[in-house]
Amino acid sequence: MTTSISCVFCRIASGEIPSQILYQDDQVMAFRDIHPQAPVHIIIIPREHIESIAAIGEGSEVLLMSMIRTANELAHKENVAKSGYRLVTNTGPNAGQEVRHLHWHLLGGKPLGPLVC
Ligand code: AMP
Repeated sequence: MTTSISCVFCRIASGEIPSQILYQDDQVMAFRDIHPQAPVHIIIIPREHIESIAAIGEGSEVLLMSMIRTANELAHKENVAKSGYRLVTNTGPNAGQEVRHLHWHLLGGKPLGPLVC
C-alpha cells in the first residue's frame, strides 16, 4: 500500500497522529475534523495514499463503494441521515484542497445552505 511520510492523513491512518476515530477497516478510516465547520464534520479517507479523486482509476470501485458505505453508516450513527448531510471532496488548489490525500467531508447537523463559489 502506498503511504507518504509527509502526509497528515497517512500519519493519522498509521496512528502516528492521534485523531477521534469513528470507523476503521483495512481500507477506510473515518475521524472527526479537527476544525469542524458543522455540528457533524467527519473526514473519510482511504488508508492508501491517493492524492485526490482525480487520481482514482479503474479498479477503485470497491474502495469508493466502501467509502460511500462508511459515510452513509456514519450519517445514521450521528443522527443526520434523516435531516440531511453533504459529502464533499475538494480536488486541487482552486477547490481549496489543503490535504493532498483523497478525503470526503461528511457535514451535517444544521442547514448547510447552498454551495457557494
Ligand atoms: P481540504 O481543505 O478539503 O483538504 O480539507 C482538509 C481538512 O482536514 C480540513 O477540514 C482540516 O480541518 C482537516 N484536518 C487537517 N488536519 C487534521 C487532523 N490532524 N485531524 C483532523 N482533521 C484534520
